[in-house]
Formats: sequence, C-alpha cells, structure tokens
Amino acid sequence: AKILRLILGDQLNESHSWFDEKNEDIIYLMAEMRQETDYVVHHIQKVLAFFLSMRSFSDRLQERGHRVHYYKIDDPSNSQDLEKIIQECIKNYQIEKFEYQLPDEYRLDEQLNAICSKLSIQSKAVDSEHFLTERGFLADFFKGKKTYLMESFYREMRKEFNILMDGKEPMQGKWNFDQENRSALKDKRLLRKPKIHPKNVSELYEVIQKPQIKTIGRVEPENFLWPTTREECLEVLDYFCENLLIHFGDYQDALTTWDPYLFHSRLSFAMNSKMLSPLEVVQKVEKYWESHRKEISISQVEGFIRQIIGWREYMRGVYWAKMPDYGQLNFFGHERKLPNWFWTGKTKMKCLSSSIGQSLDLAYAHHIQRLMVTGNFALLAGIHPDEVDQWYLGIYIDALEWVEITNTRGMSQFADGGIVGTKPYVSSANYIKKQGNYCDHCAYSHKEKVGEKACPFNSLYWHFYNRNREKLEKNPRIGMAYRTWDKMKNKKEILDQAEAYLEKINEL
Ligand code: FAD
Repeated sequence: AKILRLILGDQLNESHSWFDEKNEDIIYLMAEMRQETDYVVHHIQKVLAFFLSMRSFSDRLQERGHRVHYYKIDDPSNSQDLEKIIQECIKNYQIEKFEYQLPDEYRLDEQLNAICSKLSIQSKAVDSEHFLTERGFLADFFKGKKTYLMESFYREMRKEFNILMDGKEPMQGKWNFDQENRSALKDKRLLRKPKIHPKNVSELYEVIQKPQIKTIGRVEPENFLWPTTREECLEVLDYFCENLLIHFGDYQDALTTWDPYLFHSRLSFAMNSKMLSPLEVVQKVEKYWESHRKEISISQVEGFIRQIIGWREYMRGVYWAKMPDYGQLNFFGHERKLPNWFWTGKTKMKCLSSSIGQSLDLAYAHHIQRLMVTGNFALLAGIHPDEVDQWYLGIYIDALEWVEITNTRGMSQFADGGIVGTKPYVSSANYIKKQGNYCDHCAYSHKEKVGEKACPFNSLYWHFYNRNREKLEKNPRIGMAYRTWDKMKNKKEILDQAEAYLEKINEL
C-alpha cells in the first residue's frame, strides 16, 4: 500500500526507524507553514533556523533515496492549510495510509487527531523515537503521589539507562553535585569562543520578508550562526566536550556581561529539533569524560547530564501529564503586562538590558538569565503568565511549548502553584550581584531598597512576598523570608517604593 508520512519541523530525527528502509511507495511530507510561523511572534533567527534545518533534512532524506514532497513557504502550491495539503498528497500520490510521528505539542496533537478523524483512509501515529520515556511515563511514575519530584525521576533515568552508574550505585557515591555548581566567573581568560557555523542566509531571509511574517529580534542574514544540519550539531557537541565541559558545572549559574554563552552547550535547538537525541548527547559526554577523568571532575558532567535526562525529560512528562489545563494556570492571579523594554532591551537595569539585549541579538540566553533575571523580574512585578509565556515562546531559538511552558509558567513563574518546583525562584539584587558583574556600573544600586537609586529588584522582592503572604507563608521552604520581613523596620517605605516602580514600569 502507498503510505504518506508527515514529518513536522521539529521531527528532524535521521535515526528514526522510518528511514531504515528505502521504499518507493512511501512519500514523506514536509511543509513550511504559516500556522507555525504565526502561532506566536517568533525570533527571526528561530524561523530561519527551523526552515533551514527542515530543508537540509529533506535534502538528506532524498540523498539517502527517500521520496520527499516538500512545500516551501512561498510555493504557489502551498495552500497553508495542513489538512488540505495532506488531502492533496493523498489524492496526487494515490495514498492508502497516512502516518505521523506523535507531536510534542498539544496544539498539533489535537490538530492531527482532528485531521485523521476526517480522513477516509487509515491513519497511524508512531513514536518520535527521541525521548527516553514515552509521553505518559511520568504520570504513571508518580501515580498516587501528591507532588512530583524531579530528583526521583532523574535517578530512575540514571538507573534505567545506566548513565554515570557504578553497578546499582551512582558513580562516586552521589546522585547530585549541585552544591558545587554555583560560582561566579572571576577570570575572563577561562572563556572560550562558541562553535559557530556562519552562513549567508540572505535568500531565505528575503523570502520570509515578503509574506510579512511578523518576527522579533535581530539577525545578520550574511552571518547566521546556528547549526542547521546534523553534522553541524555534532560539531557543536564535540566542541562542548573538548572545550566547555571542563567548567560547565562550576559556572552554570554565573551571570556576566563578558560573554553570552559562558560554558553552556548551545545544544537546545539541536535537540529540540531532534537533529541530536538526548541519549546520544549524554552518552557522548559520559564517554568523553571517561577518558579525561583527570582533568574534568564529575560535578561538571553530572550537572550537564542532569539538565538533559533530568530536567528536559521531566518537563516533557509534566507537560503531557498536565496539559491542556496547565496553559491556564495563574496561581498568584497576576495581571500586569510586560514592560515595553522586553522588546528593546532599553532599561537602566543592567542585568535586564544585557539579558534581553543578547536574547534579541542571538535568540539565546542561558538558564540563569532566563530564570533569575527576566523570569525573576516578571514574577516579582506580577506579570500575567500568558504575557510571560508568549515572550519566552517567541524569543528563544529552542522554544517549543512542551519545554517552554513548563519552564516559564512552572519553574519560573510558579503559576502552577508548585507542580514543577517546590518554591518560587525569586531573589533580590543580592543574588544577581553575587553571581557576577551585572551590578557593576549599573544605574541602580544593588545595596539600596529605597530611594531614587535603589535597585527595583529589592523593593519588588518584598512587595511580592508581602502581597502573596497567604499563598506562601505555609510553605516550609519560605517561612524564613517572612520572619526576616516581619523584623524589618521600614516596611511601608519599601512597599511604597515598589508601588512607585510598578507605576512607571516602562521607564525603569
Ligand atoms: P545548557 O546549559 O548547555 O544545558 C544543556 C541542555 O540541558 C540544554 O540544551 C537543554 O536541552 C537542557 N536543559 C537545561 N535546563 C533545562 C530545563 N530547565 N528544562 C529543560 N531542559 C533543560 N529550554 C528549552 O529547550 N526551550 C525553552 O523554550 C526553554 N524555555 C525556558 C524558559 C525559562 C523561563 C527558563 C528558566 C528556562 C527555559 N529553558 C528552555 C531551559 C534552559 O534555559 C535552556 O534549555 C538552555 O538555556 C538552553 O541553552 P543550552 O543548550 O546552552 O543549555
């Protein structure tokens, strides 16, 4: 029977068993679609990266002898309607069966279910063969438990896939070396250049400009830097092992204006598009470490592996366990809009101007910038989680809803009331100061809570705790903050200062 197989833009997995055999009777369908460029306003580099990677993936499949029908964004035959496109292919190729890989986004899952229910031919969904676990694994794993815990899930993955294990025990006797991963970077000379893949993408850039796809951020079309083929992604991975792994854990939480990437791997797009698999990434890193144990401590390696087989995999599980309700959660009832400078980077707060500025330039910020700078500010200021989600879902090269929303609404905004994390990630200026040089030469003073020069993080921090007392006070991990607050003498001044800042939030 003739089969039509749909490949979505984030399903660029060359090792999928679909491709094990060449078969003239199988047509692979790929399409660049307005529904994908328009469901949120994306960073221009993100749109380019996905289309470029899809195109190179299609070329690769054809080189390997597979038949691909590819709709470019500006093809006259591209009706921009997924159902129509599928129907058209079914008719033109006399297809008898439709197959697709389970999408990772709820939105597409619903859409494909609906399309299939209308088809007159048989249809079938298969696994995307990317993750370590199946969609429903996490919900089963924590069945009957009141709360989820990333750490127990992570240990299960370590055991199941035999990663950093010494028989039944974790290597070097500990599951978690997080305590060692907290330093600020003091020495610039440790920094390494990122592994980039410069290409001129002007042609595609022009094509995207024509239909007026709305985007955010900046790009130099002659100098596009992200990896867009599997080979390039593998080079980024090798480069990480050879140059960055050695300090990954140490400076994972560092914040600095010196460098946008520090020792981070820049592999999130490679994995989220499925050009690399999470298991191959962690196995390669573990293997590299095994032959470099003298130079590289286990804390660097464990810290990295935990992000991937722990957090990344866990977030996906939470997403499928909790959607679609998850997308509506707003535990604190926050209502405010994001300040305008989230789209320009033009604020006097240096931590925010740096983190937002590099996000606009590179479609990238590392975890602590996302969590403890932009996310922290949004939560303290009481921004509506929908606003925060839209921004994060658009701006980052790696932003796909299953991992964006769980990180943003969950980990960062605590809008899920504690499904992903056990307490809100908030801090005053003190934390940001401690992690690096963001507070040096800032227009605001990290030391002051009130007055013209006072860093907004300081008063907003107490404003947040004060206004959410009922919701947070009973949390055993937070009680301390309230005891400190209760002892403070100038409560009214601090709260007034916060109110004044919130009133002129666009001018901060
Ligand atoms: P590295 O620091 O080198 O980490 C290695 C890998 O670990 C990453 O590539 C990523 O796959 C994984 N990882 C690390 N932390 C997390 C995490 N918390 N959740 C899931 N995976 C993780 N990550 C995305 O992939 N897409 C998103 O849309 C996204 N949105 C985020 C929003 C907020 C508010 C926060 C706080 C975090 C978000 N993250 C997201 C997680 C993390 O910030 C990025 O994965 C990371 O910054 C990507 O850069 P890297 O590849 O250099 O990461």
